[in-house]
Amino acid sequence: MTDHSITKPSIRRTIMATAARYVDALLGSRGCFFTFHRAAPEKIWATLPNRDFYLDLDFLDTLLTYLKASGREVVTIEEGRKRMRSNVPTRPYVNFSVDDCYRDTYEHVVPLFRRHGVPVTLFVTTGIPDGTMAMSGAGLEDTILNRDEIIVDGHRIMTDTAERKMTAYSALEARWDGPKSHVFYARFCKENGLDAEALHWKHAITWDMLEELAHDPLVEIGSHTVSHPRVSALGPEEARRELTDSRKRLQEKLGLPIKDFAFPYGRLKDCSPRDFEIARLAGYESVSTTTKGLIRSGNSSFVLPRITLNGGHRTLLVPELHMAGATALAAKVIGRV
Ligand SMILES: [Zn+2]
Repeated sequence: MTDHSITKPSIRRTIMATAARYVDALLGSRGCFFTFHRAAPEKIWATLPNRDFYLDLDFLDTLLTYLKASGREVVTIEEGRKRMRSNVPTRPYVNFSVDDCYRDTYEHVVPLFRRHGVPVTLFVTTGIPDGTMAMSGAGLEDTILNRDEIIVDGHRIMTDTAERKMTAYSALEARWDGPKSHVFYARFCKENGLDAEALHWKHAITWDMLEELAHDPLVEIGSHTVSHPRVSALGPEEARRELTDSRKRLQEKLGLPIKDFAFPYGRLKDCSPRDFEIARLAGYESVSTTTKGLIRSGNSSFVLPRITLNGGHRTLLVPELHMAGATALAAKVIGRV
């Protein structure tokens, strides 16, 4: 007897992969750079209050298998830049970069890319392995996930159901957004009797982990500032320090040349023309944003578009629309690039 639950999706995927090859032949060589932050196995993913921030690992596994079946190559940013400089037509290519870098980058993400034999780029915020950056989002989410109630500014908030957990997380994340998030988080830790240090290391990537990953030929490492600020909101000296010191720190700790930089948040309003010039002077060879777009021959390495993969979109049609350029076109039309 046929198990339709297994066969049907796999037939659908084969049909989609074949159709994608025809679309690719029509659209010609182009690159699509994806970015995401965290990843979790499906069972854990389904319980997370901030699940859009995570990719479901099972979905990522399916996506990597699908890319191979549809003839797309997964490349490093360095290889993507080589293709941008060349006019020789190539198969469509894709890059995946992980921003910030948490413990799950080491435990789950890199092992999955290794299993598929394809590269992945890590944009590291150095304050995470240095323990100098308050990981307020991770600490808040962990607490909400594991407690039935929390205290915020002296008020009790119930977090005893999945829906209440998600609502509480998104309300507090929005309230804390900005340069004072560490102040709100310190108060939250105090009110709820949390060990901020222990919570940090429960979620942070460490230098030991990064040193091990830096030796992996499938891992490319770039910088994502020291403390993850909105760079356009900083004074020029502070902005220069964020870009220069993170590069220097990664080079010292990992013994590698750090050539690639990604702006935190990464929309055009988060990085001004001044900041691209600071990146150039800091010695970077490429700068990634999160504006939607595709990469083609002749693109500048200093404004690389990247498309953020949202954890809630767990169907292959969404990355397929990104790779065909449909979402970039839609963003342009509605003026949200
Ligand atoms: Zn980031």
